Amino acid sequence: MSKKLLKNAYVLISADDDVEKFDILIDEDEIEDLLASGDSTEVNLGEVEEYDLSGKLIVPGFINTHSHSVMSYFRGIADDLSLNDWLFKEMLPREDFLESEIAYYGALVSILEMISNGITTFVDMYMFTDQIAKAAYDLGIRAYISRGLSFDTDEGWNRRIKENIETYEKYNGLDSRIYIGFGPHAPYTVPMDKLNEVAEIAKKYNTHIQIHLLESANERKQYNLLDVENTGLFDLPTVAAHCVHVDEKDIEVLSRKEVNVAYNPVSNMKLGNGIAPIVDMLDKNINITFGTDGCASNNSLNFFNEMKFGGILQKYKYGPDRFSVEQILRMSWENGGFALETNIGRLEPEFKADLVVLDMDSFEFFPNDLSRLKSHIVYSANPKNIFATMVAGKFLYYDGEFLTLKEEKEQIYEKFHKFYQRIEDKYNNSDYSDSHNDDRDI
Ligand SMILES: [Zn+2]
Repeated sequence: MSKKLLKNAYVLISADDDVEKFDILIDEDEIEDLLASGDSTEVNLGEVEEYDLSGKLIVPGFINTHSHSVMSYFRGIADDLSLNDWLFKEMLPREDFLESEIAYYGALVSILEMISNGITTFVDMYMFTDQIAKAAYDLGIRAYISRGLSFDTDEGWNRRIKENIETYEKYNGLDSRIYIGFGPHAPYTVPMDKLNEVAEIAKKYNTHIQIHLLESANERKQYNLLDVENTGLFDLPTVAAHCVHVDEKDIEVLSRKEVNVAYNPVSNMKLGNGIAPIVDMLDKNINITFGTDGCASNNSLNFFNEMKFGGILQKYKYGPDRFSVEQILRMSWENGGFALETNIGRLEPEFKADLVVLDMDSFEFFPNDLSRLKSHIVYSANPKNIFATMVAGKFLYYDGEFLTLKEEKEQIYEKFHKFYQRIEDKYNNSDYSDSHNDDRDI
């Protein structure tokens, strides 16, 4: 049976609509129709699988435009370190111990966390992209994945480009759900001529770019956004993560090149990088979305945190009358769809059936006043209010259960912890960590 009917729920079609009661008819991976509640019993829909979702609120699935899913192993390692120590003493040495199977289970655990938090699409940059793509494919989530590309030697660079292309050739377009782009890490880790090379390759493969831009203050001294623009990179559909330290001229560049920005408020604050001038960028018509960043710097993939903290930070910066709930929801939904050039982020016919079912029978949604539900989603809700998550017309999560697991949940968690321990054991036995421990002891 390829059709589904979600009945009796309240529905928020988009950030700018009002909450109304509709029955949602889904055919394969798309929304076919929205029927006034009750009408669906009177028209002949043929054979459909019905779901009674009384007392629930259906909203578009959240679109997470920046993450590093394999980093689930690194949650809670280094909460109180500077960006430099965090990266060079804790992250990079451990990343040396990752292997394919380890990466697969790391990505799997992050994707399960995202699904249970209402995220239906994620944009990911890391190593082991074939394993991330496989994990995303296996679980049924929508994913845009790119190999993190940084430059050390020509040999290392060429190897990473080759891996990125291999993942593209194997996974791009799979199931109309998995897409592979190119991920030059940042302009301070990739020289301009290499950014130009990535632009040429991505143009040839007709795909997207993911990059970190102006995340920390000292990056401003390291490169100029005009030079990045001249590499041609921004001529491709690009998601730029962070953009915390952009000035007026940078905002001009991002605006004229229609670069999409991933706002990562929790990661930016936790690493002490500051508050991105989102309202200024919105005023220049830049398409802004939300990203969680990875578990190592966030430490959770909780989209509700991004909306709430992201919202209150902009209010703190610009005043309480700026940055409306609708603005935040647009950034969570349709702006992500716009960035990824895909019909997601709205619950309308011909849009993908990517949606979240929220349980209104919980304190976070009291009072159940329809005019307040958008506010409840942004400022009150949390992941435990998620009743179900659907991607491409398929429930991946329903009433506390994951429905697309290829192996037992317990087995996945056990393997994850076994691999976690292997990384830690190797790290603790390595020369690097010895010197690290010496440092710490001093
Ligand atoms: Zn990142």
